[in-house]
Amino acid sequence: MMQPWLQPWAEKMRIREDVPLSSLTSFRIGGPADFAAYPADAGQLAGLREDCSRHGLPCLILGRGSNILACDEGYRGMVLLLGDALSQMRVEGTEIRAGAGVSLSALSRQALAAGLTGLEFAGGIPGSLGGALYMNAGAYGGEMSQVVREVTVLTEAGEVRVLAGEEMNWGYRHSLLQETGWIALEARLALTEGQPEKIRETMQDLAGRRRSRQPLEWPSAGSVFKRPEGAFAGQLIEEAGLKGCRIGDAQVSEKHAGFIINRGEATAQEVQSLVRLVQDRVEERSGIRLEPEIRLLGPLGLTDWK
Ligand code: FAD
Repeated sequence: MMQPWLQPWAEKMRIREDVPLSSLTSFRIGGPADFAAYPADAGQLAGLREDCSRHGLPCLILGRGSNILACDEGYRGMVLLLGDALSQMRVEGTEIRAGAGVSLSALSRQALAAGLTGLEFAGGIPGSLGGALYMNAGAYGGEMSQVVREVTVLTEAGEVRVLAGEEMNWGYRHSLLQETGWIALEARLALTEGQPEKIRETMQDLAGRRRSRQPLEWPSAGSVFKRPEGAFAGQLIEEAGLKGCRIGDAQVSEKHAGFIINRGEATAQEVQSLVRLVQDRVEERSGIRLEPEIRLLGPLGLTDWK
């Protein structure tokens, strides 16, 4: 039931109730979120978030849901979705200014069209710019930290601030946004002039590598684990004999052991059990405890893997 204080918001933007998180995440897993809202702009985003916080309703921004395992119980809060909001892109010389809702594939295509190099790595990452800033997403030697000049954020206090790239506290699959809970609204990316033919070739080459090595035909959230120092998660998992290992409909991919795929009706519980099994077996064999990269969404918000 929509509380009365939410009604005025529902007149300004689309707010849905009982939205299956399986429909909002690439894993296709997760129970219902109480609410999902589509603010039209940064002002509505800020206002609704502030009102949710005033009324004690948890709030979470979601991009494309491509790095999330949502729990089976669902989420007792409000999922904020950017939809078509914050999806503007503008080329300014050798820079691109883009809203956090833009997909990385659209962004890299825009860079190609403008003859700018530096974003080829991002073409096949199925997330939004906002999610990529939060995760410091990267692939094939590139990562967001290398191209971000400036990020405009909405702080917890509802203030809009512009941060220089160097203030983002980048680390491997880490950024300041994970420490602060701030929402990325926009970023300015610094690229360099390149040859369109070469940029296109690199993008096609990387896309081909993904298609041949990753189980893109199944729902997943990409690589489950962070890369441990001096090793590769997929290789350690394979060496532990876990390729193809299955709990219910959750399975360690036969194509790439670093991925867990949903073979149809997998539950979050099954994925979590499989993650733990992989961690234990790999640790027994190699002494390395793999750390999950994907974020776990519990009934009240993002939560730690145990
Ligand atoms: P979501 O999954 O929606 O959210 C992830 C986190 O970011 C959440 O905590 C969310 O609250 C936060 N967030 C989202 N938007 C914002 C915002 N505007 N402001 C603040 N916080 C925000 N990742 C890589 O790094 N490299 C890869 O090569 C790669 N390959 C993948 C391949 C496949 C097939 C899949 C399914 C995933 C892959 N991923 C990869 C993982 C994923 O695509 C990235 O982590 C991506 O950056 C997540 O973006 P998203 O918009 O989907 O974020």
